[in-house]
Amino acid sequence: MSLVIYLNGEFVKEEEAKISVFDHGLLYGDGVFEGLRSYNGKIFKLDEHLVRLYNSAKAILLEIPLKFEELKNVIVETVKRNNLKDSYIRVVVTRGVGDLGLDPRKCPKPTIFVIASSIQLYPETLYERGVDVVTVPTRRILHESLNPAIKSLNYLNNILAKIEATNAGATEGLILNQFGYVSECTGENIFIIKENILKTPPVSAGILEGVTRKVVMDIGKNIGLEVKEENLTRYDIYTSDECFLTGTAAEIVPVVSVDKRIIGDGRPGKITKKIRKEFQIIIELEGFSIYE
Ligand code: PMP
Repeated sequence: MSLVIYLNGEFVKEEEAKISVFDHGLLYGDGVFEGLRSYNGKIFKLDEHLVRLYNSAKAILLEIPLKFEELKNVIVETVKRNNLKDSYIRVVVTRGVGDLGLDPRKCPKPTIFVIASSIQLYPETLYERGVDVVTVPTRRILHESLNPAIKSLNYLNNILAKIEATNAGATEGLILNQFGYVSECTGENIFIIKENILKTPPVSAGILEGVTRKVVMDIGKNIGLEVKEENLTRYDIYTSDECFLTGTAAEIVPVVSVDKRIIGDGRPGKITKKIRKEFQIIIELEGFSIYE
């Protein structure tokens, strides 16, 4: 079945959802995006994702052509028109059509589109077994160059890291920053648990401030863990009791080895499982209702 896509003020069929080869989102990765999910007819953390989108756009001096509430309605409407209850939603805003030069002043009108599709769930075995992670050679981009806190369409840094992880036979790649501290994985934030303290790198380590990351930090506090944002080295990861990754698509994925160092007893950790359970409860309860 063909999807209904929101594109620049209209709802069109997937086959008709086309953008120009002169769009600077395509030519230069000049734009921003968000990935959201709906669970059982409710969009999870809609406001939080939109705040990040508008902040990303502000950081690259891109004006989103819809107001916050208007975009919210468009997203809800897109999911509705596709009759989806459980979905993955992609919101993209680009600099728009310009000439072949870089100058964004030549792009008078941003391009905006929203895709809502049925979610391709990661196989349950991945959560039961846990994943293997390797440290990749590609380093995180300096925040003074292109701040990783901006969810921009420039994902080559992450893509190169993903290729390196795949080449090394691992599921995910651990990216270090220029100081050798851990930043995050290619599309997920990283957490460790050591002696009942839940630790994750700070935003200054060169991460995207994940929406799931925040939810997990709150869960940690609620179940009585001390929660710390601090710089972590590979040693900290290798010697952790438990380790897991967080992201909208992946949710919470246990890590069972990093650079062949077995984490804990080599199986998903007890506290990780508890956090996953709490996360499942939250996604059932919360969210912006689509069909009311
Ligand atoms: N880091 C990167 C680089 C990401 O692209 C993402 C989103 N997939 C995340 C972390 C996790 O963020 P969120 O929990 O908001 O999906």
